[in-house]
Amino acid sequence: MAGEGTITLTEENRSSLDYSRINYLLNPKEFKDVRVTVVGLGSGGAPAVDHLTMNGVRIWELYDPDTLDSVNLVKHPRMRKDLGRTKVEIQKEWILDRNPQAIVETYVEDVILSENFIDSVRRSDLVLCCPDKKSVREFVNDQCVSQQVPFVTASVFRTGIGGEVYAYIPDRTGCYRCLQLFSLVNEFNLSDDSLGLTSEEEERIYGLGEKDFHASGLSIDIQTIALIQARMALSVILPNSCTSLPKVKGNWIIFGNRPAKHIFRYHLEVKEMLLKPQKTCNCQRKDPAEGD
Ligand SMILES: [Zn+2]
Repeated sequence: MAGEGTITLTEENRSSLDYSRINYLLNPKEFKDVRVTVVGLGSGGAPAVDHLTMNGVRIWELYDPDTLDSVNLVKHPRMRKDLGRTKVEIQKEWILDRNPQAIVETYVEDVILSENFIDSVRRSDLVLCCPDKKSVREFVNDQCVSQQVPFVTASVFRTGIGGEVYAYIPDRTGCYRCLQLFSLVNEFNLSDDSLGLTSEEEERIYGLGEKDFHASGLSIDIQTIALIQARMALSVILPNSCTSLPKVKGNWIIFGNRPAKHIFRYHLEVKEMLLKPQKTCNCQRKDPAEGD
């Protein structure tokens, strides 16, 4: 007989993820066939995928061209022994360890150059968009809009002062281009935080021509945004059937980690909005390739 504090592992324990402790909050069987494509397994994407795996998402397609580097270890949750391995392979190993019944396909590819990505989008129920480049977020937006597949994108503002999570739900919300149009019209530029560039940004942006580069935040700054993204993703996957998650009232959440001039007045400040499709954006067209 097992004594106090010891656990007898059955074959079932070893070969599946036991949801009995969370079943009263959500029912993972309801979305066992949901397929999620992920763009970016960095310090935001990895924790978002970890949590969605623990909450029952089981079928994955993972895209990231990069390997884990020693400079990532202050932000990325993976282990030193994984340095030099591709981020998608490390994530696949983690998912299958946590849920041996998961199905994971990996692509060591930049989605913009990938010949596989559009097919992944087409067969997915949701795309989780976690790159650090705006140009990639725009590309993912356009692919998802063309296929009418929902996505949840997250980005962390310069130096980790906060970030934003944005969900596109076809026929219900605006797309990422709508968000940009809205921001332009309303002179609402969240990334212009008036902080001035850090010395690393000066060097990377002007010295090396990396115009997308922005200084990183702390792991806690990044993961705060990643967890809001994972929460939003579950709300999109389970729009009606779960009492423990908020229904998607707002598809745009802006979260401030710390005060910053003209943007956040307090620590842990949150704003939520519902952004409808903007008139000047063509995202309401079902298939731009077909034309009228
Ligand atoms: Zn749009």
